[in-house]
Amino acid sequence: MARIELRELAHAYGANPSQPSDYALRPMDMDWDDGGAYALLGPSGCGKTTLLNIISGLVRPSHGRVLFDGKDVTELPPEARNIAQVFQFPVIYDTMTVFDNLAFPLRNRGWKTGDINKRVHQVAEMLELSPDLKHRASGLSVDAKQKISLGRGLVRPDVAAVLFDEPLTVIDPHLKWLLRRKLKEIHHELKLSLIYVTHDQVEALTFADKVVVMTQGEVVQAGSAQELFEEPAHTFVGYFIGNPGMNLLPCSIADGHARIDGSSIALSPSTAAALQGAQGKITLGIRPEFVECEFEQQEGTVPATVNAVRNLGTHYLADFQLGGNAVFAKLRYLTARAGDKVWLRLPPDRTLYYVNDKRVA
Ligand code: ATP
Repeated sequence: MARIELRELAHAYGANPSQPSDYALRPMDMDWDDGGAYALLGPSGCGKTTLLNIISGLVRPSHGRVLFDGKDVTELPPEARNIAQVFQFPVIYDTMTVFDNLAFPLRNRGWKTGDINKRVHQVAEMLELSPDLKHRASGLSVDAKQKISLGRGLVRPDVAAVLFDEPLTVIDPHLKWLLRRKLKEIHHELKLSLIYVTHDQVEALTFADKVVVMTQGEVVQAGSAQELFEEPAHTFVGYFIGNPGMNLLPCSIADGHARIDGSSIALSPSTAAALQGAQGKITLGIRPEFVECEFEQQEGTVPATVNAVRNLGTHYLADFQLGGNAVFAKLRYLTARAGDKVWLRLPPDRTLYYVNDKRVA
């Protein structure tokens, strides 16, 4: 296992990048602790695979350095980096047995037969592949083949890190849940450094201790599931994490209040101080889970109209019209119907403020 550091790392695939949008990765610094479980999360095209491939050595960055345990590996080819990688689709030897597939990376490094047996059985047990060890891989389902791929990635205890690029894409949805949990357990048991690329927030949040959120080639926040949910540092994180994501309402600030179209919301003294003199685009952010609905005007509420209410079984999802904005709310119960006039409370301790998309309060 290695501590991985990225220093002033940036990458452009084209020859002469002149503006930020020419970069697949904008300049970044990052530290990945050894033994950590990290996820790289972001929409298609945000640069996740590029970053993973720079760490593995498949792509050489146009700027910056990659360090493993303080040693500069930027110029080293993949085979010299001691990295294991698991891809979207199974990469296995179809004609070999499951045992031989798992043993292959160990035999390649001259392990003794007894040690190979022990380790292969340990990893097979974790991935519930033990009953298949003697079977040829070619006869197995795609789910089982992908489990073999995962096993091949996890079997060597001495790798600097194991990199996963959307490894559960081909897996049946029910098994996907089980494997996410398994991977977490395996991480605790094998104590390997894992970096896991996905565009699926549930996958990232269930697997990783720290989730690195990317958009347009930039890392906008790295944090735990709770931090990303409760304190998104960037409007993109608020919008991307959650279902639906955070309500993001354009507002202006005056006289200690946030003004959203015709409505006015009092700011706490500390929020007012943080926003004083703010220049640029100001956004109020509140998650649907924290919006409250009243049927009478009360102190601290703002008037809104019900656009639609859906009973989703476990909760009600409502969308309200507040001036020119739609505001989503997840409520335990709601009797209102489309067209009803209501009053929304946006609790101050759950309301965040962003200036030019970055959180200031
Ligand atoms: P996805 O989830 O769709 O795989 P991603 O987040 O992994 O997306 P990358 O594949 O790293 O994103 O792509 C980042 C940007 O770099 C995209 O604009 C993509 O078109 C571009 N890109 C990726 N690979 C190459 C390449 N070999 N040559 C040129 N441009 C590339």
